[in-house]
Amino acid sequence: MPPTSRVEELRAAVARVLPSVRADLEQLVRIPSVSADPAAAQSMWASAEAVASMLRGVGLSDVTIDAVDGGQPAVLGSSSGPPDAPTVLLYAHHDVQPVGDENDWDTEPFVPVESGGRLYGRGAADDKAGIALHLAALRALATLGTDLGVGVTVLVEGEEEIGSPTLPAFLDAHRDRLAADVIVLADSTNWRVGVPALTTSLRGGVSAVVQVRTLHHGLHNGLYGGPVPDALTALCRLLATLHDDTGDVAVAGLTRSAADPLDLDEQQFRRDAGVLDGVRLLGTGSLTSRLWAGPAVSVVGIDAPSVAGASMTLVPSARAKVTLRIGPADDAEAARAALVAHLEAHAPWGAEVTVSAGKAVRPFSATTTGTAYDVARQAFSDAWGVAPVEIGVGGSIDFIAAFAQAFPDAQILITGVEDPDTRAHGPNESLHLGDFEQACLAEALLLQRLA
Ligand SMILES: [Zn+2]
Repeated sequence: MPPTSRVEELRAAVARVLPSVRADLEQLVRIPSVSADPAAAQSMWASAEAVASMLRGVGLSDVTIDAVDGGQPAVLGSSSGPPDAPTVLLYAHHDVQPVGDENDWDTEPFVPVESGGRLYGRGAADDKAGIALHLAALRALATLGTDLGVGVTVLVEGEEEIGSPTLPAFLDAHRDRLAADVIVLADSTNWRVGVPALTTSLRGGVSAVVQVRTLHHGLHNGLYGGPVPDALTALCRLLATLHDDTGDVAVAGLTRSAADPLDLDEQQFRRDAGVLDGVRLLGTGSLTSRLWAGPAVSVVGIDAPSVAGASMTLVPSARAKVTLRIGPADDAEAARAALVAHLEAHAPWGAEVTVSAGKAVRPFSATTTGTAYDVARQAFSDAWGVAPVEIGVGGSIDFIAAFAQAFPDAQILITGVEDPDTRAHGPNESLHLGDFEQACLAEALLLQRLA
């Protein structure tokens, strides 16, 4: 059969299974599997049970639900391929973010509602659609009546939204079943509606709490102000040294690599971000390099007297929490040390500084050469009718580092079902149903061609 008819054959198969996949997705959205909420423990297990029965339904065997080290339940299922066939691990997660203020939602968060070509509901995209994506690909291929040709393992995690604390232990405990030549992590975003993306880099980072002290106790600022420095002003001056005048990060020793500028439009970007008129964007270089490939630092909290409780006092001590994101070319431990050194060295007036830095999260950079990427690029192009864009993500995704560390030889593909309007984690989260269908076809083609 010529390649184009194979694509069309599979496109028709995906279209045939889509209603059942949609029903499964809606069933999952109705389960409030909020991993951060201890009161949702029962829902977490109900969600895992539902996923397990769906995995059995697509012919996976040995479907198990397991929670290691008191973690949330994860579901694992597999089907073995022919001897010597490549093996593929498909990942998604069944837990969701809390809904926040329900008044901010236009529809009930846990009731799936279709409107304007999108399916609304918490988890409708992130990442229950990732589960549905794997189901669709496997179900569509099964209807063709031929053997899959690859070994497939599906892992549906239950604690991605709380930072995957027990995932490394889970990967360790199930290493034999999870080891694969290609790992497909379906939990990221596409570039925009109609344009698919492969996520090829993530930033890492570290946060630190910095405390500044100048006095043994507070002082009347009329009697002592002038010569005596207060700690809050000293802290402000210290924090001001984190950027240079253009807004680039001024912490020495950090690097920025190049990122494809793509067609990111600055005006559109400003609108999406809600930047006020007249406020300048920070830093130099392309927007994508500032967003994905270089460092970003921000002050996220300050402990100091509140305005309402303020008195005419020279404040003796104050502290701030600073977060640093680092580009994929940086080393997390070195960056952590650079941030600490900067904070320790830049306080004015000899103020006493103590810094306590948190865990350094490693950045990630995919190796984008090799069979899996070549096959994926072609599969995405054929399914969507548009070549995939390679994007970075400015945040960190803990589970990707866990996979990269546990399976250093596997090729890791980061795909997804989101688009810029998905509003994952926010109110009115939704899935673009047209893009979802293309994504299902792309994954089915990928599996077929990896065989
Ligand atoms: Zn997610």
